[in-house]
Amino acid sequence: MPEARFSSIFAPELYGRLRWFSNLRWMAVGGLVLGAIVGPFVGFAGAWPSLLYVGLLVAVYNLLFVWRLSRYDSTFYGELHECAIRQMVADLAALAVTIHYTGGMESPALIFFAFHMAIGTIMVATRLMYLLAAGASAVLTAIYFAEHSHWLVSYAQYHHEMGAEPASRLVLLMVAMFGMVYLTDSVTSRFKVHAIELHRTGEDLLRKTEQLEALVRQKEELEQRKSHYMRISAHQLRSPLGTVKTSLEVLTGGYVDPASERGKKLLAGAIERVDGLLEIVNDLLELAKVREGRDKAPWKSGINLTQLVMDLLDSLEPVAGAKGVAMHDDLDPTAVLAWGIPPDLVSAFENLLENAIRYSRPGGEVQVRVERREPGEILLTVADRGIGIPEELKDQIFHEFVRAPNARRHAPEGTGLGLTVVREVVEAHGGRVEVVSQEGSGSAFTAFFPVDWTPPEVQSLLQQGNQPVTASTRRRGAPAGSSPKS
Ligand code: ADP
Repeated sequence: MPEARFSSIFAPELYGRLRWFSNLRWMAVGGLVLGAIVGPFVGFAGAWPSLLYVGLLVAVYNLLFVWRLSRYDSTFYGELHECAIRQMVADLAALAVTIHYTGGMESPALIFFAFHMAIGTIMVATRLMYLLAAGASAVLTAIYFAEHSHWLVSYAQYHHEMGAEPASRLVLLMVAMFGMVYLTDSVTSRFKVHAIELHRTGEDLLRKTEQLEALVRQKEELEQRKSHYMRISAHQLRSPLGTVKTSLEVLTGGYVDPASERGKKLLAGAIERVDGLLEIVNDLLELAKVREGRDKAPWKSGINLTQLVMDLLDSLEPVAGAKGVAMHDDLDPTAVLAWGIPPDLVSAFENLLENAIRYSRPGGEVQVRVERREPGEILLTVADRGIGIPEELKDQIFHEFVRAPNARRHAPEGTGLGLTVVREVVEAHGGRVEVVSQEGSGSAFTAFFPVDWTPPEVQSLLQQGNQPVTASTRRRGAPAGSSPKS
């Protein structure tokens, strides 16, 4: 029987039983006092006043136990168990004295030894109860021999000499005591095992309920984020659409001649708005691709980040050249990630590089650096000397559709979605992005990648024994991937 486990679970239960046991003891005190008074009249010559003293003694130690019990922590099993053992020993001692004064092996109180064993087995460890039964047997045997050798006065009514009848009573009582411990244990241990199972099931249920609650909370948050995202996406699309609609109504309603100077201006404005709308739609699709791609886990091993950046620099060279922005690079060829999704990484890096060019002033400079840093980190830094980011917006620019006023003035065509792609891609690779910027002086974005990071999706594939896809190498100068902003 798993007693130790049982102990830790049922301290409050033991506490309750001890209280109940103390209440029972008051009845025993009453019985002893009554026995002391009535005893001599019904043939128990030794009852008065000895039983009264025993009764008083029991009352005193019971008071003591009740007082101690009120000070115990009802959840601390160790102390309660010790208290139960002390009570058992005290009771058995009081009972042994009672037996002596009420006729030794003829005492009608002998049966209480067996009761005590049953009650004790419910409360304390079974092996201890066998020990107590052995101790009680020894004390009773000592009383038996002491009375019959006249070393102790015998209060037996019929003054048996040492003989078969009192000896067999003693043996029977011993058998009854051990039998009680055994029987009580075999009955209660089954309850104990069931109680442990019940307790475990309860704990399991509680854990599962907590997990479920966490999942529901997560789902609610996700739903909220989704609806927030949809709302601001719709809002971003609505105002350019409204402008285009108004321009077309003005033209089709005959208020302005489409061929006139003003008509042409209106049409050009509408086309510009439609371009902006297309840009937003493209970026939204790009973001969706990045988010959905992760679920399909197109992870590849051994991704050379420097190679990806070199390819991008090649393809963006003309854009930078057209703006008069000089590109410098410092790339470590050993910057290889254990696992990655190449098209997503290309999207993220492309956004960073395009931003650096876009928010640079003509004649500006962009510095791109890829370096390995111990322990096990790769850093990609894109720094420019452009318009910078206002202090109050630095924490928000990685959120969808956030654009700083200076960026809107400098480059009206942005969507505010590129940095969201950057953050989500880098985080999906176990990394993080940081920005250092000063408005008017420039910005430096750094993506930190843990080199040996293995995505959970790949981990579970590897555990199942499936082989994830390995990297395909890309030549310098080959197209780097889809361009979200082109
Ligand atoms: P977009 O560039 O289309 O506006 P992003 O999500 O890429 O969208 O960037 C969000 C905002 O962060 C930009 O509008 C701009 O205010 C700021 N930002 C990003 N990169 C830079 C940079 N290199 N220099 C200055 N501001 C930047």
